[in-house]
Amino acid sequence: MIVTIDGPAGAGKSTVARQLARRLGFRFLDTGAMYRAVACGALRAGVDLQDAATLVHLAETLRVEFQPESIMVSGEDVTDFIRSSDVTAAVHFAADQPAVRQHLVKLQRQLAADADVVSEGRDQGTVAFPDAECKLYLSASPRERARRRMLEMERRGEPVNLDDLQQQLCDRDQRDATRQVGRLHKAADAIEVNTDGLTSDQVVDRLEEIVRSRQSGARTRA
Ligand code: C5P
Repeated sequence: MIVTIDGPAGAGKSTVARQLARRLGFRFLDTGAMYRAVACGALRAGVDLQDAATLVHLAETLRVEFQPESIMVSGEDVTDFIRSSDVTAAVHFAADQPAVRQHLVKLQRQLAADADVVSEGRDQGTVAFPDAECKLYLSASPRERARRRMLEMERRGEPVNLDDLQQQLCDRDQRDATRQVGRLHKAADAIEVNTDGLTSDQVVDRLEEIVRSRQSGARTRA
């Protein structure tokens, strides 16, 4: 079974998608980390982020390993670095490139082949897995999303200003929603869950309930 979780930056997708995958015993695909890994590789190599051909070549040749608690890019542990503001500011160069997206979507489908997967991102229910059995869309108000991102960054020792962060999130929303390929939008058959005021455990409970009812619906029909 494929479960997709899409939604804007800071809606709490990564945390709950990881927990949901653990509860269901499914593989977890953090597709934002893939775009971040390409941006990280480009920053580390000092290449021109505007050079599409170089970015595509990087995406195709980088060795990205997803371990349960860490991400390695070409043998280097970049778990914290890919979440840093430097990479966040640069990731759109990778995400805006149709050829990079095409390559990463192919990789996502390979990773999901013959597996039960929870795949989280922006275009998972619309582009990567349009036939997914269960599509979820997480939303939350900009203030709540900025607050969550701030706590996350403070935990990593990166102090930030809440208003600045909210502005950056809104800029990213705008970019994500208007890119030519793989733009962020809710699939027509996705179930939207607004996470304002909910703890991540409450969100996971709600998502698990939705997935389990899909699973039992599928068993009844079989
Ligand atoms: O989810 P996360 O913040 O880690 O994603 C990093 C960036 O990668 C996002 O700003 C978004 O632009 C991009 N992204 C994407 N498609 C995905 C996942 C992430 O364009 N499936």
